[in-house]
Amino acid sequence: MQFIETRGNDGQHPENLSFSQAILSPISSFGGIYSPVSLPALGEDFLSQHLASSYKTLARGVLDAFEIDIDSATIDQALALYDEFDDPANPVPVVKVYDDLYVSELYHGPTRAFKDMALQPFGVVLSSIAQQRKENYLILAATSGDTGPAALETFKNKANVRVACMYPVGGTSDVQRLQMVTENADNLKVIGVKGDFDDTQNALKRLLASAAFNQKLKEKHIYLSAANSVNFGRIIFQTIYHIHSYLELVRQKAIDLGEKVYLNVPSGNFGNALGGYYAMQMGLPVEKILIASNKIYILTQLIKTGAYDLRTQAVVPTTSPAMDILKSSNIERILFDLFGSARTRELMLQLDNEKYYQLNADELETIQAIFAADFCEDAEGKAYIKKTFEQGYLMDPHTATCFKTYETCREKNLKTIVYSTAEWTKFSPVIANALTGEIDTRDIDALKSIAENANIKIPAMINELFDKEITHKCVIEK
Ligand SMILES: *Cc1c(COP(=O)(O)O)cnc(C)c1O
Repeated sequence: MQFIETRGNDGQHPENLSFSQAILSPISSFGGIYSPVSLPALGEDFLSQHLASSYKTLARGVLDAFEIDIDSATIDQALALYDEFDDPANPVPVVKVYDDLYVSELYHGPTRAFKDMALQPFGVVLSSIAQQRKENYLILAATSGDTGPAALETFKNKANVRVACMYPVGGTSDVQRLQMVTENADNLKVIGVKGDFDDTQNALKRLLASAAFNQKLKEKHIYLSAANSVNFGRIIFQTIYHIHSYLELVRQKAIDLGEKVYLNVPSGNFGNALGGYYAMQMGLPVEKILIASNKIYILTQLIKTGAYDLRTQAVVPTTSPAMDILKSSNIERILFDLFGSARTRELMLQLDNEKYYQLNADELETIQAIFAADFCEDAEGKAYIKKTFEQGYLMDPHTATCFKTYETCREKNLKTIVYSTAEWTKFSPVIANALTGEIDTRDIDALKSIAENANIKIPAMINELFDKEITHKCVIEK
């Protein structure tokens, strides 16, 4: 499988790359990224073949179909990390909540958010390629909460890779911060920045553009890579669970093989939804992909009107912070796949220069044949958390945004798979507030309250965080 550039070629970047090369240097000409030149077809045969497969066997089948240039032993080692999830036999449980609504729980990994689904195996793959090439890589990350812990967890003590991660002091939940500052490994550095998420991201951008910094890296023979979802090494692992969730519905006799479903995805950078889109293009029977936004409704606006308009929107903090994103990186791969590189380059450059683009009527029609979208205000989300809890299911505020799209976007009476992207433990103050009205400023109080209310246990890896030694104390001015 070869990867090509979303914005065409500038004569300086390679026009096409193998999978491993695309992982190491994800940025292509004109500020574009790499996308697969074509997708494997996984028809009904593939699905019926894998009806009885374990998650890992299915994953192996999907990765083989992509024909990636990663050796078999490394892939096995990467997929073995799913054995560390809560239930090795079923790392992604799919739970029936209503007759036609099933929740696919993507948060049963070590950091309790869906980022582990891809970053866990990705860490093994990146480190192994770096070792084979005898090269050293630095991953720089600015995080608003979930990517940081998952990236640190996957790369800790991995050979030939180091991670430096910046987070906004006061801008993450206690659990998210503790997950970062208690990580103890020589190849990790965590830095608190006195500012908001944008300040950490700006600091990162200044660093990447700094000649002195780049000179220093060169002297030390260190290359830079990225662990965010512009890296296709993450996306590939995010196609698998969409296929798995569909097969789970067949196994649970909710649908017959071949019957269409809705995929319902809480979206920010659009990596999760892109995985669903690729699964659909590869032949998974999907009616439409429902995109759930929070009150930052940039993706909803795009899908409803064809306008991507940064001029009219600002990032306002919400109760689903992992979706507080204006520049959604993976939309670019959708544009490329549907409309080609010349048009993608035109649209993305316009977005850079004028903060805005508008799809034409044909393009909008193409998008709307695949996606539908709606946005969910914080208060609505809280109401869904409470109502759904009273009906026996506890969920986090990101997952809750999907219950709005479930109500407003379905045109047919088909089963819907909602993707749950975080465990309740990661956003406990919001959930405790939704359930009882209490206002907890500390996660530990909210965790205890919910655990008691729902009669469940706080998972050990969350509880332990509060007693762990803080190893990263570095806090700097913005
Ligand atoms: C990252 C994240 C999202 C958004 O996923 P994208 O792939 O960026 O669209 C949603 N919910 C949670 C909890 C996340 O951590």
